[in-house]
Amino acid sequence: MVEESKYKEARKRMVEHLSRLGISGEVLAAMMRVKRHLFVPSERSDQAYGDYPIPIGEGQTISAPHMVAMMCDYLELKRGEKLLEIGAGSGYHAAVIAELIGEEGHIYTIERIQWLVEFSMKNLKRAGYKNVTVTYGDGTLGLPEHAPYDKISVTCAAPDVPPPYIEQLKIGGKMAIPIGRYMQKLYLVEKKNGIEKKSKCDVIFVPLIGLHGFGYYE
Ligand code: SAM
Repeated sequence: MVEESKYKEARKRMVEHLSRLGISGEVLAAMMRVKRHLFVPSERSDQAYGDYPIPIGEGQTISAPHMVAMMCDYLELKRGEKLLEIGAGSGYHAAVIAELIGEEGHIYTIERIQWLVEFSMKNLKRAGYKNVTVTYGDGTLGLPEHAPYDKISVTCAAPDVPPPYIEQLKIGGKMAIPIGRYMQKLYLVEKKNGIEKKSKCDVIFVPLIGLHGFGYYE
């Protein structure tokens, strides 16, 4: 009980910090509801509400809260939407999205490291999310069996937009994707008659590795 209120206070401070960065009220409320300490390795739970990335094993990280919040804001998530996330990692970003799309929406998230598939599934189950499906595989291929998606959220940096993502995005759909190897930018891509690609900010993400990503041995 004391533990829970300690985390709640830390979460409140994190959300207050994010509100000063101009994050929308809907996203702030969703981040207040997600218990981030359930998504980091137990020995790091005291760092769970700091605004920085945290190692989650296998050389991967859970993104900093401000980055999760900004990507959710750029995508303008609505209740009932169907999403694809690339890079399940800890499952935290998917949980925030799950809060924003509600129980009537669904998020499919794909992860290439088996251990992280199990870690994210365990975390999402413990935190009580039923509208998230974690799949093992090469996320550069997307997930055609559930396409088309209203939105796509890519949480690792690609060399360019993988063609399957364009095919699997609905007309009118939006995608947030970091692009670049050492110098990366976060892009908001909109599929209209053609493809509109707007650069939003400089970012640092781990690489997207796979057929339409960076090579396996870089
Ligand atoms: N969204 C995660 C979270 O909330 O913890 C953080 C994701 S971490 C920054 C990026 C993830 O992308 C890593 O877990 C990495 O293994 C994964 N990844 C990299 N290439 C991938 C691919 N081709 N398919 C699926 N996942 C991939």
